[in-house]
Amino acid sequence: MKGSRVVVTGGAGFLGSYLCERLIEKGAAVVCLDNFLTGSPRNVEHLIGRPAFRLVECDLTGFVHVPGQVDLVLHFASAASPADYLRHPIETLKVGSMGTLHALGLAAEKSARLVLASTSEVYGDPLEHPQKETYWGNVNPVGPRSVYDEAKRFAEALTTAYHDSRGVDTAIARIFNTYGPRMRPHDGRAIPTFIRQALLGEPITVTGDGSQTRSICYVDDTVDGVLALAESDFAGPVNIGNPAEMSMSDLAETIRDLAGSSSPVRFIDRPVDDPAVRRPDTSLAEERLGWRPRVDPVTGLRRTIDWFEKELNSPYSVAS
Ligand code: NAD
Repeated sequence: MKGSRVVVTGGAGFLGSYLCERLIEKGAAVVCLDNFLTGSPRNVEHLIGRPAFRLVECDLTGFVHVPGQVDLVLHFASAASPADYLRHPIETLKVGSMGTLHALGLAAEKSARLVLASTSEVYGDPLEHPQKETYWGNVNPVGPRSVYDEAKRFAEALTTAYHDSRGVDTAIARIFNTYGPRMRPHDGRAIPTFIRQALLGEPITVTGDGSQTRSICYVDDTVDGVLALAESDFAGPVNIGNPAEMSMSDLAETIRDLAGSSSPVRFIDRPVDDPAVRRPDTSLAEERLGWRPRVDPVTGLRRTIDWFEKELNSPYSVAS
């Protein structure tokens, strides 16, 4: 990474901001492209002014030009939380399709490697458990979640076509639920919602009967996995996630206990097409990248709760 120049699309978002930070620590120069649809300059304000960092307001679905050398493109631009992509359905489809086309065009023009941030949502409501990369998924193409799931499936197809027919050096990371400090308390994802509710003493709203499972990965582990993939010559797709699976009820209770809260748990309607189970098989990542997650959920949740506690008490809070 040292001496290389990296473009991070969606770099002012949750995952993107950690990638920018870590790349700079590793001695790379970073160009962060973002239109601030769901991210914020605040996520990277600690990097602004560093000679190795440039923040450029740019909508990936429009014209994209980065002057000079580019060695690596990390394509992370896309709304990711269900509340965000349901609020921005067309924008989500456009960034997954046209935005990915432009990111691949940039990588082709610069002879750079590109890593696509794909998602476990390409597996839909899975009929195979745990999910291996060989599983094709079970996605409703016209359900509400399709704007995200199908955009990412198209992005994988486009990336594969650029790899196979144009010889572009690409890789696909299928990222599973990642959490950590810097998530927006109101972004609608389960972990920030549960933590906010627990800390404010509000009822913790679990959807359905709470028996559906998720496998949650701490942000530092996901970033390590993505960078291991970027530094390899593996095209993937490869799962990046933590196989520690738990039901949503267990997750809510764990967060409540760690936050020292006495919030009651309230069950609310389950969203349409919400997957019943989710757990990555990470053997391919271990074998090809030598990567495996290291932070257990209790440690990661404790760190995240500590951050939210400060954030919710801050006059500059993004808790909106
Ligand atoms: P995020 O919403 O915090 O970040 C996404 C960023 O992309 C934001 O800064 C947003 O402003 C930017 N963006 C959106 N449309 C854009 C456009 N047209 N042009 C330029 N920038 C645009 O979400 P995140 O959780 O950091 O997710 C980042 C990426 O990782 C996404 O591609 C997401 O699909 C993928 N991913 C995330 C998770 C997770 O658990 N966080 C899991 C699987 C995949």
